Amino acid sequence: MIKFIRSVCLLLLLFSAAMPGITISKAAYAETPCPWISESLIIDSNMTEKEAFDGLDPKCPEEIRKQQRIVTVKYYSFDKKIHQGQLLIDGELENDIRTVFEVALKERFPICSVIPISDKRFRKDDRWSDDLSMEANNTSAFNYRLSTGNTQLSKHAYGRAIDINPFQNPYVKGSVVLPKGAKYDPTSEGAMTADHPIVRSFLRLGWEWGGNWTTLKDYQHFEKSPKN
Ligand SMILES: [Zn+2]
Repeated sequence: MIKFIRSVCLLLLLFSAAMPGITISKAAYAETPCPWISESLIIDSNMTEKEAFDGLDPKCPEEIRKQQRIVTVKYYSFDKKIHQGQLLIDGELENDIRTVFEVALKERFPICSVIPISDKRFRKDDRWSDDLSMEANNTSAFNYRLSTGNTQLSKHAYGRAIDINPFQNPYVKGSVVLPKGAKYDPTSEGAMTADHPIVRSFLRLGWEWGGNWTTLKDYQHFEKSPKN
């Protein structure tokens, strides 16, 4: 009997070796909904929690800090390759962000990079600099800071806003355009428009888009207020 089982095992082993396709399990396939995702994933950010919050403004209340989650996201980028990055965002919004990034990946909407602002490249006087992140065309969410051109805390300070591709989707108020040198061209790759699937997904999930504002335009910006 043992001999028989051994022979069956050997046969199965030989069979699976001859047909490598059958070794791909259903579960593995389900984790890769986009067949064009190659094995060569480019890692843009792989921070530990300590690194992701390093240099955070000490004025940030502990209860806000505790609400933030590190969300790992995959995206198609301008080099036509799949990248992996990280976002810091209010834990309540994690599922929304995953949904929208899935849409972006399916649409092959290019996102330059998604790296927390604590990265050394975005530091000014050792503090998180939104300007440096924008100038690098980086996508980010949580940053304990004031709203641009305002004295109030931004929705980013609560981790309830995200800026996507700032260079293609600048902040425009009168003659002020941020980041410097950017120009909004709705036909350019990576730009948001009212009918874009990403904008529509965000709106469906109850988010606001800065491109719909009237006193100023902030095409990169999406935010969601708490329910109550
Ligand atoms: Zn913003």
